[in-house]
Amino acid sequence: MVDSNQTVSIMDINFLNTTKKDFLNHHLFPRLDKREKTFVVTANPEIVMKTREDAAYKRIVESANYVVPDGAGILLAAKYMKQPLQERITGIELVLDLLDFAEDQGMSCYFLGAKEYINEKMVLEMEKKFPNLNIAGRQHGFFDLDDPKVVEDVAQSNADIVLVALGLPRQELWIDQHKDKFSKGLFMGVGGSFDVLAGEVKRAPEGWIKLNLEWLYRILKEPFRIKRIFKVFEFMIRIILKRS
Ligand code: UDP
Repeated sequence: MVDSNQTVSIMDINFLNTTKKDFLNHHLFPRLDKREKTFVVTANPEIVMKTREDAAYKRIVESANYVVPDGAGILLAAKYMKQPLQERITGIELVLDLLDFAEDQGMSCYFLGAKEYINEKMVLEMEKKFPNLNIAGRQHGFFDLDDPKVVEDVAQSNADIVLVALGLPRQELWIDQHKDKFSKGLFMGVGGSFDVLAGEVKRAPEGWIKLNLEWLYRILKEPFRIKRIFKVFEFMIRIILKRS
């Protein structure tokens, strides 16, 4: 993890306090160039709440090289704690910038996760968007976390970037369980990003994102997520109670 003067601690999780541009240019791209193994967690309030409830999961998140703030709730909490974070750094935006870089540098990417038809459609979309991107491999996300065939396939692909879209906590658990078997690779959990990149789920319009209301848009579109939003409220209430 980076040193503490570059981070803001929220419920014991150290978030990198920088912009997306700086994170890419001064952290991720140089590490990719050096083939340095890297584990990135893009954390929202749900992930932070999960670290409170599950000590093993917390250790995994703490072991990441970088935890970046993905979620308006994290930014709001940091502001409330009078330690504002510079910018929201979302998984989906990082994915697009990383693929752009990989295409440019002749690096490869493995896409692990989501339903089979979504994974397939998303890879086709990425081939259209990044025609020179080297696609190391792909695999849907409905397998046993211990399945050696999946790990072998990813390892044999020798991918520079491994995007893991298994939802929380599965994606971080898979990365933690297997990353020692790889000699290089940027490993990042990317939640529901493949569904968006496949064009199956729409991201909120720009105006909603600017107003920090992407979460509300998601609930309106996918009402089954309403239960999860209670975790976000619990997160905010805990932040407020801790300060008062
Ligand atoms: N997913 C998966 N395997 C699983 C569970 C989920 O590949 O066992 C995929 C799911 O299809 C979706 C992504 O993980 O593409 C994120 O799932 P979800 O929306 O449930 O999680 P969140 O966005 O909250 O991380």
